Amino acid sequence: MIDRTRLAALLGRERQAYRDRNPRSAAAYERAKAHLFGGVPMTWMNKTAAGFPLYLAEARGARVTDVDGHEYVDLCLGDTGAMAGHSPTATVDAVAERFGGRGGATVMMPTEDATWVGAELGRRFGVPYWSFSLTATDANRWAIRLARALTGRTRILVYSYCYHGSVDEVLLVVGPDGSQVIREGNVGAPTDPTTTSRVVEFNDLPALERELAYGDVAAVLMEPALTNIGIVLPEPGYLDAVRELTRRHGTLLINDETHTFSAGPGGCTGAWGLEPDIVTIGKAIGGGIPSGGYGLSAEVAARLSGMSGLDLVDMGGVGGTLAGNALSVAAMRATLEHVLTDDAFTAMIELATRFTTGVQAVIDEHGLPWSVTQLGARAEYRFTSPAPRDGGSSNAAGDPDLDDYLHVYLANRGVLLTPFHNMALMSPATTPSDIDHHQTTFTSAVTDLVA
Ligand code: PMP
Repeated sequence: MIDRTRLAALLGRERQAYRDRNPRSAAAYERAKAHLFGGVPMTWMNKTAAGFPLYLAEARGARVTDVDGHEYVDLCLGDTGAMAGHSPTATVDAVAERFGGRGGATVMMPTEDATWVGAELGRRFGVPYWSFSLTATDANRWAIRLARALTGRTRILVYSYCYHGSVDEVLLVVGPDGSQVIREGNVGAPTDPTTTSRVVEFNDLPALERELAYGDVAAVLMEPALTNIGIVLPEPGYLDAVRELTRRHGTLLINDETHTFSAGPGGCTGAWGLEPDIVTIGKAIGGGIPSGGYGLSAEVAARLSGMSGLDLVDMGGVGGTLAGNALSVAAMRATLEHVLTDDAFTAMIELATRFTTGVQAVIDEHGLPWSVTQLGARAEYRFTSPAPRDGGSSNAAGDPDLDDYLHVYLANRGVLLTPFHNMALMSPATTPSDIDHHQTTFTSAVTDLVA
């Protein structure tokens, strides 16, 4: 369907244009190589479609400007960390007041903002008792520890091609022959994850039932819809069955809402009336300031409180010195109270529908075997149709050259998509004309490709 020779030529043309238009970013990258491992502040920043990253100058709302002076419509939004928009005023003010005005970020003393945030997250996600972290990875790590402590079981069940951060237990997949195998590239695995975890394909109930029947699974850790291998939606009835099976087998259910927060003010849990035992979240809730947390159901909190021998205060393995710090919770409060409000989601979801409808129209016009899937304020295109029903088939449909072509084509014309994804996320600051700019650019990228 796609002429590979044509794709290679276009990709070459676009990469050259990217090099030509970004000399300052290219030079900054060269300088960094002497001092930064891999030449970047974090090694994943080498995930670029054209050989070097763009360097940030400024970001406000849904707009980013790079050091070469180009302005972008930012549909990446820090891969969800900036879902509130960049530097939203309410969060900026709260952070300035906490850090500069009254002063104090890391004081080893609580502030009442945390109580407000716990109550608000409880209202949205249905689980009443919250504790904070600075990343979603840590929220997941600590939730896993608590689940193991509570159940006395060792294994964690996850989905093939899931991502929950750099958590050891999740880096395994279902192999082509159906066996469970370590995920390719897993860096220095402390132990074989097939001994700590079980993995099944999303939407595969018989596999889930089979694996839970071993009786050794402390918790299922899941995104209610996969978002890290394209978007994979649950089939009707699937999540109800997951809940029923986990209850029947004495396994806790952890919903990781870090990305699925896009589904609504209470993520998929709120939007779809789910009943997890634990909710984890990170990234967006701090409006760009490092934040995260996990919420426990009343039952889980009560059972944990009744257990003796758990060191939850000192060195028992749950906690971080800066977790729940005054600055982080001030940012969460302002973001949840004033920016990522219930009303804001209504407009954000409408924009994602506009995006999805537009992309689908291009796919239909050219009869492309692609799909686009929306999850509330987020949408992602994938180079297979119909949309995949599990992580394995979505992974198999990956097309790195096509990914790179679209990313660099769009970047050269002022639109940023998320690296690792063909994902577009809406913020309260995103406008219909931002989406129309993507639409025009995406249309011409496709037209050039199929011409
Ligand atoms: N959970 C999910 C669902 C994620 O997508 C990610 C990151 N993409 C994480 C957890 C980890 O977030 P962080 O890297 O901020 O710890």
